[in-house]
Amino acid sequence: MRRRGPVWAWLLGLGLLVIAPYLWLANGPLQALWYDGVAVVGIVAMVVGIRRNRPEWSAGWWLLVAGQLGNVVGDIVYFYVQNVLHHDASPAPYDIPYMLSYLVNAFGLLLLLRRRNRGRDRASLVDSLIIASAFALLSWVFLMQPVVRDNSLGVLAQLIAMAYPTLDLLLLAMLAWLLASDGARNIAFVLVAGNMVGFLVGDFFWAFAEQTFFDPGNIGSRLIDCAYLIAYICFGAGALHPGMVEIGRPVGQVRVQPMTLVRLILLAGATLIAPALLALQAWSGDGRVLDAYAIVIGCVTMFLLVVARMTMLVRQVHSQAVVLEQQADRLREVAQQDPLTGLPNRRAWNAALPSALERAARDGTPLALAVLDLDHFKNFNDTHGHQAGDRLLKEAAAVWVANMRAVDLVARYGGEEFVALLPGASATEAVELLDRLRPLTPAGCTFSAGVATWNGTESADELIARADRTLYRAKAAGRDRVECDEAAARA
Ligand code: GH3
Ligand code: MG
Ligand code: MG
Repeated sequence: MRRRGPVWAWLLGLGLLVIAPYLWLANGPLQALWYDGVAVVGIVAMVVGIRRNRPEWSAGWWLLVAGQLGNVVGDIVYFYVQNVLHHDASPAPYDIPYMLSYLVNAFGLLLLLRRRNRGRDRASLVDSLIIASAFALLSWVFLMQPVVRDNSLGVLAQLIAMAYPTLDLLLLAMLAWLLASDGARNIAFVLVAGNMVGFLVGDFFWAFAEQTFFDPGNIGSRLIDCAYLIAYICFGAGALHPGMVEIGRPVGQVRVQPMTLVRLILLAGATLIAPALLALQAWSGDGRVLDAYAIVIGCVTMFLLVVARMTMLVRQVHSQAVVLEQQADRLREVAQQDPLTGLPNRRAWNAALPSALERAARDGTPLALAVLDLDHFKNFNDTHGHQAGDRLLKEAAAVWVANMRAVDLVARYGGEEFVALLPGASATEAVELLDRLRPLTPAGCTFSAGVATWNGTESADELIARADRTLYRAKAAGRDRVECDEAAARA
């Protein structure tokens, strides 16, 4: 069987093919039909896509369908009002579906985004607000302010003329938030973002032509229309793409969003728009700034948002530092501890022994060191099992420690071998102590020990080696006993 390729790709390819001839259509019913036909195909594809892919939480998607549908309704009303009623004034009935469609779209996106971020990715929200504020300032200066100054317009017409750029800003903020947010970035994501870009591009050129009284001509108008048509098809293809279910899926864990170079450049560019406008107006007005207050408000807003973003970053760094410190503490602890017995391990012992020798030298006090080794432990393991052996190691360690002084240090040297440091203890005291410990060893087990007292000059390694040799003497002599090497200490 020949592979036919995924439906979304077919829609995208065929959609673009059908859009191409639209460029040469003149204003009229055929053009309107073509336009709305493509738009409806895009919307139907969205419906099919949602039903096929079954995103877990489809409310946001259905709102987006309603939003796109509102736009088509607006277009139909627009065509009727312009071509049948020949009404060319503002406000007009089509303003209602158009505006509603923006609001419904924005709400649908908000639902998807809140789920995607679980409402926690505030940093990306602030970033998108910074971008949107910069565009708000531009839009106020270049799109809204001329409307306010236009006395020929009624108040309602003025309000509506200002509402469109405001709604575009809302869409732009959503797009920026979507792009900045963490989460899946698959083909469906790109297509949905493409839809928003298409609408924004269309609206921008439309507003530009309106504002500058520039007549884009037939091909120009069709080009603007194409931006919207591509947007419809993108959304349809995006909804058909199986990856669409991922878009609204919450990210496992909100990650720290890296301040990438692109993000940094965008944010820096956005914040520089206000001073750039100030310079432009001061220059063209010979020092008089037409929109001084708007620029001030824009600056203040962006400064505050940047400070908010900085605070978030600083907090993030701080909380990470706290976590890292806790982890480092825990790691240090783990690195020094034997996991089975909870005793200090050989690493901790190696670190503690030289300083104990130094202290004994400084204070002129005696110091004894013992190496303990369980007798016939291999047999114990073989008879009772390895787990019982583990238990014995643990219990023996606990009972020995409980019967020693707080200043004594017992460590697990390895396997069933332990070392004990007895500061201030003479050879006799050390042997007495170990003899007291021997019968306490659980499960009828015994141990042999070799004691060596420090001669005041030898190194830690030499001292241990001597105690170890003494231990072998105890083993050789029949086990279950403590041997002491004092001769070397006196020498
Ligand atoms: P000796 O009296 O000569 O010391 O005989 P032994 O059997 O105690 O000594 P040997 O060195 O032959 O065997 C030590 C045994 O200790 C072998 C090993 O399986 C066991 N062992 C070492 N570490 C652990 C541990 O963490 N858990 C358990 N259950 N056994 C261990
Ligand atoms: Mg042993
Ligand atoms: Mg051993």
